[in-house]
Amino acid sequence: MFEKILIANRGEIALRIIRACKELGIRTLAVYSEADVDSLHVQLADESICIGAAPSSESYLKIDRILSAAEVGDVDAIHPGYGFLAENAHFAEVCESCKIKFIGPPSSAMHAMGDKNSARTYARKAGVPITPGSDGIVETEKEAMKVAKKIGYPVMIKAVAGGGGRGMRMAHNEPSLMTGYHSARHEAEKAFGNPDVYIEKLIVNPHHIEFQIMADSHGHTVHLGERDCSIQRRNQKVIEECPSPLMTASLRKKMGAAAVKLANSVGYQNAGTIEFLVDDKGHYFFIEMNTRIQVEHTITEEVYGCDLVKEQIRIAAGEKLSPHVQNATPRLHAIQCRINAEDPAKDFQPSPGRIAFYYAPGGRGVRIDSHAYTGYVVPPYYDSMIAKLITIGATRESAIDRMRRALEEYYITGIKTTVPFHSAIMRNAEFRAGNYDTGFVERVMSSEHFELKPTVSRLRE
Ligand code: ADP
Ligand code: ADP
Ligand code: MG
Repeated sequence: MFEKILIANRGEIALRIIRACKELGIRTLAVYSEADVDSLHVQLADESICIGAAPSSESYLKIDRILSAAEVGDVDAIHPGYGFLAENAHFAEVCESCKIKFIGPPSSAMHAMGDKNSARTYARKAGVPITPGSDGIVETEKEAMKVAKKIGYPVMIKAVAGGGGRGMRMAHNEPSLMTGYHSARHEAEKAFGNPDVYIEKLIVNPHHIEFQIMADSHGHTVHLGERDCSIQRRNQKVIEECPSPLMTASLRKKMGAAAVKLANSVGYQNAGTIEFLVDDKGHYFFIEMNTRIQVEHTITEEVYGCDLVKEQIRIAAGEKLSPHVQNATPRLHAIQCRINAEDPAKDFQPSPGRIAFYYAPGGRGVRIDSHAYTGYVVPPYYDSMIAKLITIGATRESAIDRMRRALEEYYITGIKTTVPFHSAIMRNAEFRAGNYDTGFVERVMSSEHFELKPTVSRLRE
C-alpha cells in the first residue's frame, strides 16, 4: 500500500480524499493556491505546499508545480479528485513517467474516452447505443446543416472537449443551428482550448442516468447501479438520487451490462462513470464517460455500502476489488443536494465572501461533505459548490422527508446559498411523485407557484 499521497485538488473533494487516506493509514500532502491558505484541506492534511497564485491556471492546473511538490514531498501517488487535472491524460502520463502512481485509469483509457467524439466511436464499436448524430467532428457550417437535416431537428451541438455543461447549444432550425455552431465553438475554445464540435440528436426531456463502474487491474469490472441526475440547471447537475425512480430491474441489467462492456473495451481501470440519456419510451443512449470519481459518488456509497475513494486507492495500489464491492447490492435510497454559494433569487449569481455563521444539520441518515466553516471565506476563483448534503432513507419518501428536515436545519449566514432552492424542490409534488426529467427545473422555476422561502432559524449566532 502507498505510504504518502498528494491530493491535487481543493475544497470538499480534497477533504474526502484526506479522510479516506487517514482511515487507510496513509500520510497526505495537500497542495494549495494563495487563495486557499485558510482552507480546511490544508489544515487537515499531514503536510502542505503552496503551488501558486489564486487563479487555477497559476496553481491547481500547473502540472510542473504539482510534480515538483510531489518530488519534494516524496509521495508514492497522486489523487486528482474531479475537475482541474482529473481528466487530463497528459498529466496521467507525466505521473506515470515520474514513477508516481496516478490514482485513476490508465492514460490510454483516458485518451479513448476523454474526447466525446472518440468515446462515441468506442461505444459504437462496443455495440452500445449512442444518440444519432455526425460521424465525427463537424468542420464547416455546410456540413452542420447537412447533418442536422439528415438526423432531423431539434439537434444539440456539442464540444468534443466539453464538460460542466459548457460548450453545448441546442438548435431547433437552421438559423439557430448557425448561431449555435459558432457560439459553441467559441465557448469551447475559451473554456477548453479546443473549438471542435459534433452534432447529435436532441433527446426531448430525457432522464440523465449514469452507471458507476469500478474496475481493478486483475480483470474484474463491476457496475454499482445507476444515479439519476436529471435535476439540472443549464445542463449542470444540482440534485442526484440513487436509485432512479425510473429504473426497473431489467433496464438496470441491460444498461449496466452495456456500461461494463464499454469500460472493458477500452481497458478501463479504477472508478469511472458511463452517462446515458433515457427517453420516455425507455430507450437509452450513451452520451459520455467521466474517467474520474464524480461529485455524486456519495449516494452510490450510501446505497451500496462501500467507500469508493478507498477502493480507488486500493485498486491503484494493485489490489483486487474488495469482495463487498464486487457483490454490492442496493439496499437503501439516497439523495444529494449540491449546496452552492449562489443566490437563487438572483438567477443563481455567485455569492462568494465570508461565512458569518455556519451550522450543519446532523442526525440519523444525514451526511455532509463540505469544507465550509464559520469564518471561512469562499473565494471567487473556483467552483461555487461549498457543500454536498446527502440524506439516506429506507425508501425514496423517507430520504426526501429527511432532506426537507435537514435543509430546514442548515443555517449559513454572510453569503447566499442554494438551500432555499433545494427546499422548494423537496416540497414540489411532481418531484415527490418522481415525475421529472432534465427540463424539470426550468419548468418549475417559471411556474407562478414557485416560491423561494428564506431559511428561518431559531439558532443563536
Ligand atoms: P460530475 O462529477 O457530477 O460529472 P460536473 O460535471 O459538474 O460533476 O463536474 C465536476 C467538477 O469538474 C465541476 O467543478 C466542473 O466545473 C468540473 N469540470 C467538469 N468537466 C470539466 C472540464 N472538462 N474541464 C474543467 N472542469 C471540468
Ligand atoms: P458535460 O460534459 O457538460 O457533462 P454531457 O454530454 O454529459 O455534458 O451533457 C450534460 C447534460 O446536457 C445532460 O445530462 C443533458 O441534460 C444535456 N444533454 C446533453 N446532450 C443532450 C442531447 N443530445 N439531448 C438532450 N439533452 C442533452
Ligand atoms: Mg456529463
